[in-house]
Amino acid sequence: MKLLIVEDEIRTGDYLAQGLGEAGFATELQRDGRDGLHAALTGDHDLIILDVMLPGLDGWQILSTLRQAGRDVPVLFLTARDQVGDRVKGLELGADDYLVKPFAFAELLARVRTLLRRGNSSKDNETLLTAADLEMDLIRRRVSRAGQRIDLTAKEFLLLELLLRRQGEVLPRSLIASQVWDMNFDSDTNVIEVAVRRLRTKVDDPFEPRLIRTVRGMGYVLEAPEN
Ligand code: CA
Repeated sequence: MKLLIVEDEIRTGDYLAQGLGEAGFATELQRDGRDGLHAALTGDHDLIILDVMLPGLDGWQILSTLRQAGRDVPVLFLTARDQVGDRVKGLELGADDYLVKPFAFAELLARVRTLLRRGNSSKDNETLLTAADLEMDLIRRRVSRAGQRIDLTAKEFLLLELLLRRQGEVLPRSLIASQVWDMNFDSDTNVIEVAVRRLRTKVDDPFEPRLIRTVRGMGYVLEAPEN
């Protein structure tokens, strides 16, 4: 799941991007209101965390433009101003939730998960991805196989999420690089190979059948064998 963070305070923005990244989300950070609006209109985010006071355009303007454009992506407002009037204004403009600064990260994470759950139940039901006895709960950020919990790093989680969402498709390394690492790798790098190997030792080695296959010269595919 991909989150857009629009926050001009350097420390708060970095803190959010880092914390949410560690919690397993893909994050995009914008520090200017105009860049934030552009990213929100052109990107495919599952949730937007929006500061109110921003250079360029403020959070109110971004939110109202988004809603006028018919974008119903959930928006969590961050505001230092906790006056009742601001809350009412935000809700009228279509904000989904509020958090008043300063906030505890755990509180933010809980709100984010609640909003994602709500957004998903109304859009698609892809909060649980499965293949054979492997299960990935996107809301609770949990993976299990045959009922056993599997701990994954944030990158491993993203990699497995991609493989599960597109199961049965052979995914080229270049696509995995751009989707999971958000960058292009030289073709001779073995970063992806190493990550896939690590993922397999957790997800496949202790279990039957094997789900992740290497397709030589092409890439990787996750597939549950038919019976
Ligand atoms: Ca600000």
